[in-house]
Order: sequence, then C-alpha cells, then structure tokens
Amino acid sequence: MNRFDREAFKLGAQPLIPRNQIDQRVVELAGQIGHEYRGLEVVAVAILKGSVFFATDLIQLIEIPVVLEFIRAKSYAGMSSTGAVQLTFGPERPVTGRHVILVEDVLDTGRTSAAVLDHLLSERPESVAICTLLDKPSQRTFEIHADYVGFTIGDEFVVGYGLDYEERFRNLRDIYALEAVDDRA
Ligand code: 5GP
Ligand code: MG
Repeated sequence: MNRFDREAFKLGAQPLIPRNQIDQRVVELAGQIGHEYRGLEVVAVAILKGSVFFATDLIQLIEIPVVLEFIRAKSYAGMSSTGAVQLTFGPERPVTGRHVILVEDVLDTGRTSAAVLDHLLSERPESVAICTLLDKPSQRTFEIHADYVGFTIGDEFVVGYGLDYEERFRNLRDIYALEAVDDRA
C-alpha cells in the first residue's frame, strides 16, 4: 500500500521524539562537531529534502565556519525502498580538499548514504563524516557507519521535523511513528 490515505495510516498518539528532546540533542551534536573540527571550516552537505530542518538547525549552533550545500537523493517511494538511488544535483562547488559532513535524516539500509558518499569521495575531500538525525541500525544492509547520531530508533516508519510520508507531515514539530490501521476493522 503506497498511497497516502488518512484511513490507512495514523500518527502515533504520542510523539516518538518530542521537539524539546530533538532541540536538546541538536545542541549537543553541534557542540561536539564544533569541538572536534575546531580551527577548521566544514562543508555541511544536507541530503534533500528530509534533512533540511535538522541541517539548518544544526549548523546555526556550530561555532566554527560552515558552508552549506545540498544534494538530492531519492531512494524511496512510499514506505519501502525502491532500490536504486538517484542523485539529481550535488554541491555547487566540488568538495575537493574540504572537510565534509554529510547530513542525513535517517540512516536506514545505508543505501542513500553509500551512494552520496561514493559521489563525494570521487571529488577527493580532505575528510568525510556522516551526521544523521536518526539511525535505524537493525535495517542496515550497506556498510555505513554514522560518526554523529541524534537518536537510535527501531524499524518504525517515522514522520515530522522534515521527514515525510509521500511529501506530507514534514511540517510536524515533533517526530511521530506512522502506524498502519487495519482497514477491515
Ligand atoms: P536508506 O537509503 O538508508 O535505506 O534510506 C535512507 C532514506 O530513506 C532516508 O534519507 C529517508 O529519506 C528514507 N527513510 C528511511 N526511513 C525512513 C522513515 O522512517 N521515515 C521517513 N520519512 N523516511 C525514511
Ligand atoms: Mg525521504
């Protein structure tokens, strides 16, 4: 079932991750990044669209010079992965010789990050780290490790704070698990 349907899916009654916990964790991650890269300039490459809320909140709190770039990667239709990853545009300027932090919304199978990482590595950056808001380690099929993780969660499908289900729910302030509703009930 890949189509949005108010009858077929509902948000969890309570947020899985309330916004105050997200905000607190973003402060911590920004502090850690600022500390570990002190004296350097980083290029934050945010993967569109899901990580935009997280990336912009994060970089505002990093107290070292940060350049913001975007890359578009699509691997999902509905709630299950379609396999191939399409990179439709990348950083405007090559990341050659730069310290890159790839900013992800959810590290799931790792397919998206692996594809983006391959692309960035082909430009020979000085270093690359992965920073993901959410990590679903139980779903990993590609060998990808995040250097910075906001929250580790199970295999539930989540929406809100930039995360969508078929483009909806990105604007929710908190993160919710999406639950299937038995439509025969
Ligand atoms: P991967 O390529 O690691 O399997 O999947 C990563 C991408 O799938 C994420 O960037 C995100 O766009 C999408 N994704 C994975 N899990 C979820 C989820 O629970 N909720 C939403 N909204 N997107 C997800
Ligand atoms: Mg997505």
